[in-house]
Amino acid sequence: MMSCNVNANTIDNARADEIYQRIDRGEVSSNDELNLLLKEYKNSIAVDDTVRQQLNIRQTCWSHPANNAEQLNTAINYADEYLNIYKQPSPSLIQVDLTLCKILFLHQQGQNQNVLKPLDNAINNAYLLEDPRLIADSRSLRGTILSYMGNFSAALEDLITAQNLYESLKLDYWANANLRELANSYRRFGDPDTALTYQTKLETSFLEKNQHFEANLITIEMAMSLEELGRYQEANDRYQKAREFWLKENELIAAADMAVSIGGNFINLNRLDQAKTMLEQAQQHITPDIASSYSYMNLYLAKVHHKLGNHSKALEYIINAEKAFNDHNNARGLNLVLQLKSHIYQALEQWPDAYYTLSAYVEAHDALDKKTMSDRNTEMKTRFNTDKIQSENNLLVQLDKDKEQQLQMMHRNEQMQIIIIILVVLILLIVSLFAYKQVVRKKLFRNLALTDELTNLSNRRDTYSQGKAFLNEAQQTDKPFSIISFDVDHFKAVNDKLGHDTGDKVLVKLAAISSSMMRETDVVGRVGGEEFLILLPNINNSIAVDIANRLINAVDNYDWSRISPELHLTVSAGVVSYTDETDLSPLLLKADKALYCAKAAGRNCVKAG
Ligand code: GH3
Ligand code: MG
Ligand code: MG
Repeated sequence: MMSCNVNANTIDNARADEIYQRIDRGEVSSNDELNLLLKEYKNSIAVDDTVRQQLNIRQTCWSHPANNAEQLNTAINYADEYLNIYKQPSPSLIQVDLTLCKILFLHQQGQNQNVLKPLDNAINNAYLLEDPRLIADSRSLRGTILSYMGNFSAALEDLITAQNLYESLKLDYWANANLRELANSYRRFGDPDTALTYQTKLETSFLEKNQHFEANLITIEMAMSLEELGRYQEANDRYQKAREFWLKENELIAAADMAVSIGGNFINLNRLDQAKTMLEQAQQHITPDIASSYSYMNLYLAKVHHKLGNHSKALEYIINAEKAFNDHNNARGLNLVLQLKSHIYQALEQWPDAYYTLSAYVEAHDALDKKTMSDRNTEMKTRFNTDKIQSENNLLVQLDKDKEQQLQMMHRNEQMQIIIIILVVLILLIVSLFAYKQVVRKKLFRNLALTDELTNLSNRRDTYSQGKAFLNEAQQTDKPFSIISFDVDHFKAVNDKLGHDTGDKVLVKLAAISSSMMRETDVVGRVGGEEFLILLPNINNSIAVDIANRLINAVDNYDWSRISPELHLTVSAGVVSYTDETDLSPLLLKADKALYCAKAAGRNCVKAG
């Protein structure tokens, strides 16, 4: 009766999920294996993996051993501890599942009346959560408890619904476990034949799958059916087999429980001494907190002592049994108690008590009979209604599928979102790359617009605009500012004699010579065909004249035959410096004049303006 829903929407942990599936589908052959798997599961999930941590808590709850009062208390405390932690939101899967787990242990404590209300509530919540597995688990549990309490009609409705659900969900192991309860219910409500048919089928199935633990449980239940059919010897053989199984597993209480049943059967076979020995062996292990065993053990002890003529001892036991059956609301057991108790009182010749008990027995028997009759009717109704139940179940399974599809859709949407984000990022990248290229190109264009293509020097426009800036600075700071204007001598002749290409090479070389001789802060510009300007911030007139002289000497001394064998080249320069000019033009005009003077003076010389 474990419930699960592995949320697809979590971090991948294939190994953990595989282990979980095995546990959850009941594909575990022993308690030891179960504990090992649980441990491995716990170790393989991350602390912050909340979904699997919750599954771990749920499975751990169901896997608690429940062989004695102490273990039951531990299990119930565990469920309570986590129910307290997972109070909100309500309802939730873990909350309903832990509630069911706790109820199972309370049922094993014999607290059946108290659990019905919370169980109804859990079932409602399972429907609210639309979780077919949890609905099946909760209805199977209620069916089990109601059947134990003798309310067969309601029990059958629950168990048949759970059965159809488990089969639709293809949960074979849980379908079989539920079928066991269904068979038990048939037995309890007086149809051990039907019970035995189901049980035989189940036993074959368990043995085929090597599920020895389950096969042993069914052996016990078959023994109970056989007992009710009066086939005491066959019943006892099976009880004996089961007792040996438990002893081998060192499950002493379970073995003692078998001893109780064997004792009961020995009474039926009238082997009273053997019965007494068996029951006294059981007494060593069965304490009042093992509710069901304890009640039947006392009933049988009462019976055997009564039959052996030990009536007062019998009375002691029957009172124990009565209390125990009362405590856990076992109407069938109480019926048997009242019948025997009345016989004991008769044997003790306590007539009023005998009469009183007999009337109570008749009343209880009638009530149980009526109930059984109505249960039969309800069972028929339930069976005729199976079509409706089937369609309801199909609907639930469909709901489950829809939920899964929704999850898948959400998953797909998430993937789409990721793709969209990637696309947006890509587009942004492309746009920024494009924008970057534009900036670079703009810069290039700007450079092109400011640079002379042939010499890579500043062009006329740029030279003039930088000249203006230097002039402004000189005006504001009173620092000197000089300009050299130089022009190639007889350049036309170079072109004419050696060709335009050589002329170009000369211009490039001149640009290189003049640039290399200037400071970083100076500007050399080509302002006309073979006319250049040099802007010299912070340089006064006499230094500028020196620089101009160095320049014309450098040109004069350069080995121009590298460009063309016959070639020799000189330049003439005019130098001006800022005095009080408000604009660049008069300065340039003065520079032109100085250059003209240098040309006139025979070229290859410097004139200051
Ligand atoms: P001067 O000594 O009086 O300056 O004589 P010049 O021949 O240098 O002067 P002029 O102004 O008569 O000739 C300039 C020549 O420069 C005319 C033209 O063919 C040439 N020129 C102008 N721009 C370029 C150019 O980009 N490349 C070449 N190869 N020649 C150019
Ligand atoms: Mg010239
Ligand atoms: Mg010229």
